[in-house]
Amino acid sequence: MSRFIFITGGVVSSLGKGIASASLGAILQARGLSINMIKLDPYINVDPGTMSPFQHGEVFVTEDGAETDLDLGHYERFASIACKQSSNFTTGRIYEKVIAKERRGDYLGATVQVIPHITDEIKNSVLASTNDADIVLVEIGGTVGDIESLPFMEAIRQLGVELGHDKALFIHLTLVPYIAAAGEIKTKPTQHSVKELRSIGIQPDILLCRSEHPIPEDERKKIALFTNVSPDSVISALDVDHIYKIPRELHEQGLDDIVVKKFNLEVPAADLSDWDNIVDSLQNPKHSIDIGFVGKYIEHTDAYKSLNEAFAHAGIHTHTQVNIVKIDSDSLEDQGMEALLNLDAILVPGGFGSRGVEGKIKAVNYARTNNVPYLGICLGMQVAVIEYARNVLGLKKAHSTEFNPKTPEPVIALITEWKDREGNIEVRDEDADLGGTMRLGAQTCKLVPGTKSQKAYGVETIYERHRHRFEFNNNYLDALQNAGLVISGVSVDNELVEMVELSDHPWFVACQFHPEFTSRPREGHPLFNSFVNAALKYKQGKSN
Ligand code: GLN
Repeated sequence: MSRFIFITGGVVSSLGKGIASASLGAILQARGLSINMIKLDPYINVDPGTMSPFQHGEVFVTEDGAETDLDLGHYERFASIACKQSSNFTTGRIYEKVIAKERRGDYLGATVQVIPHITDEIKNSVLASTNDADIVLVEIGGTVGDIESLPFMEAIRQLGVELGHDKALFIHLTLVPYIAAAGEIKTKPTQHSVKELRSIGIQPDILLCRSEHPIPEDERKKIALFTNVSPDSVISALDVDHIYKIPRELHEQGLDDIVVKKFNLEVPAADLSDWDNIVDSLQNPKHSIDIGFVGKYIEHTDAYKSLNEAFAHAGIHTHTQVNIVKIDSDSLEDQGMEALLNLDAILVPGGFGSRGVEGKIKAVNYARTNNVPYLGICLGMQVAVIEYARNVLGLKKAHSTEFNPKTPEPVIALITEWKDREGNIEVRDEDADLGGTMRLGAQTCKLVPGTKSQKAYGVETIYERHRHRFEFNNNYLDALQNAGLVISGVSVDNELVEMVELSDHPWFVACQFHPEFTSRPREGHPLFNSFVNAALKYKQGKSN
């Protein structure tokens, strides 16, 4: 039977609970244990699919097509596990299930209440998602004391009792701030946070204390005394310059030992050589490049979390420091192309909404006509097709119906009937609900032998994740191909264009899917590695 680790947060949000949980997952894996990870999100949205990336950061898409919290991206990257729809529950999803059961009469006339019906649903959802792993890490979003997280806290408290002490463990992540004026760290917020947690019946076994400075021994003892946690289980989670250092940091303080002892597990010592190699490569790059990142949410790094990580991974595997130069697509529309002049490569990432689209099309034009390596992802492929149609094929009014529903040349358009992952026909139209009408999740793509895309991947079929509504319009396929656009990847049934590229350009590749969701620090990702190598070559060419 699986053991469970429940991870809660206190004091403030944004302490990196997801990364800490994922790092613990990684070190437990390094001890030969199988793990699974689940995120419980107390907000009311059924899933984060409709939430603004400004507010909530990136929407992470799982292989099975769930739109989930970005922490699942950390789980996949640190622990190399494949998360699923069942790896992320929100309050909205739990209530949706309970209300459906109530309507069906499943509760046999009972008054449906938070305790026990909502809490039972949470417990059952967790217990049904273990994947038979040795250890299941369950992270609860938000901070202790939030009204909306109470049912989740109550559910994990009950699970702790029902599973027993050798099967359940509670970790609380808090902040130990450094007050510069006093020149000392303060333990009071941690004491209060644990007090709050204990008032709802949860005694943490381990405290992870985020701090800028190491926590002195006597302060650690003080925290232990006030929180009823053993002193060696008060772990300091120091700020680090790179997240992939965290597994080693936590291991050095014995976090994995505390866990395996508590669960009475006989396991080998941790082998963290993968993580040491990753950190070594990050800290000793041999080259550096500047990639222009032309987007709308550029100031908000969480909005492109997986993409930033994918570039870090490509840097690890090509020994390159990849500098992301953020370029606001709006500014390209009114201030010209100066911002693009000294870059080694240009990327247009995924995006929604018409703001900044003309700036992105200009960036594509600049990359294409100046032989600058270009990678287009999702919207980045759509604008590449629009640019090519307008400026090479001569269809001056070419557009996507997303941005101009009345365009006379809809080279990118909504396909109203299409096959979903199981081959069922799905119908969507302009007015359909925003939640759940997208092409979502991993699908097979066939690559055309000999193309740059195929050579980059080194195989002929790939399995990549989608999240978009609009598609390449096949009515323009022949005309665009005759004008020189190379179709380098198509769906299994040959119906959908998945990748395009140019043959008379050093490296101009665009894809309708999101390769960043499958990039891992240990393995890297072939398309990003190939793009970074092209940028290195371009940079060398400039200096010769
Ligand atoms: N807005 C475009 C679409 O819906 C692209 C989406 C994306 O880049 N993820 O098709």
